[in-house]
Amino acid sequence: MRSLITLTPIVLFTITYYSGCTPKTSRPKHYLSDQYMPSAAAPSELANNTASESVLERQGDERRQLVTAPTGKAYWLRWRKVSESVGRCNAGRLIDGLRLPAKGVGYRHIGKSPYGSDETITYLRFAAWAVHEQYPDTVPVVVGDLSAERGGYLKPHRSHQSGRDADVGYYRTKNRALRWFKTLPIGELDLSKTWTFIEALLRTGAVEYIFIDHSVQKALRDHARSRGFAARELDQIFQFPGRKRRALIRHVAGHKNHLHVRFVCPSEDDKCK
Ligand SMILES: [Zn+2]
Repeated sequence: MRSLITLTPIVLFTITYYSGCTPKTSRPKHYLSDQYMPSAAAPSELANNTASESVLERQGDERRQLVTAPTGKAYWLRWRKVSESVGRCNAGRLIDGLRLPAKGVGYRHIGKSPYGSDETITYLRFAAWAVHEQYPDTVPVVVGDLSAERGGYLKPHRSHQSGRDADVGYYRTKNRALRWFKTLPIGELDLSKTWTFIEALLRTGAVEYIFIDHSVQKALRDHARSRGFAARELDQIFQFPGRKRRALIRHVAGHKNHLHVRFVCPSEDDKCK
């Protein structure tokens, strides 16, 4: 049985003393280039960590996090910590947010508002990259709105205000590309790719919720079950078939044609709620 829940706690390593203040340096424009890829972790780097945990390290404003991709290989995700998520996702703002490039490995941005926290951008790119790693010929998934450059109210969303929310389309069978979010018959949902995307997000340990319509949840849960994930574990991940309060994946109306992922507050963003 493969397991996800044990991968969720993040262990924080502080290599050097970190003041907790967000450095107010100007944003390096292309820190995450379009060629950005997670780098494979060496076996010696894994030796100090239990393989079942996601490890975040800090040094100055550099961050790196060890994450296991759905293929089972471990990778370092790297970013420069500049952004600050402030307030609530439905009443908040974003300071020095990072822009998601219009295109990257495994995705295409079609929304109007491409800004997110450094962590949001890194994790989203990782998930799209992880699908691409497993299905190298895959057409890019479509990514919709994240947040406005400085966050705040973003029409027509209730949340998407503090750089922690993103809308992402589902993958379609037969590797057919979508130009925009589209409600597909369940038989046209590519469950393997969509589940790989979700699995990669969950493996970052940074998902607060994923909103997905009940009907799509059922199909995804059945798929994950067929791939060897334990029912007990999936019960904690999926709200379907019940209405469990604590599930990570929840039904919210309006999510038949895309999923909405909300990441937890970055641990060092003190004003994030
Ligand atoms: Zn949304």
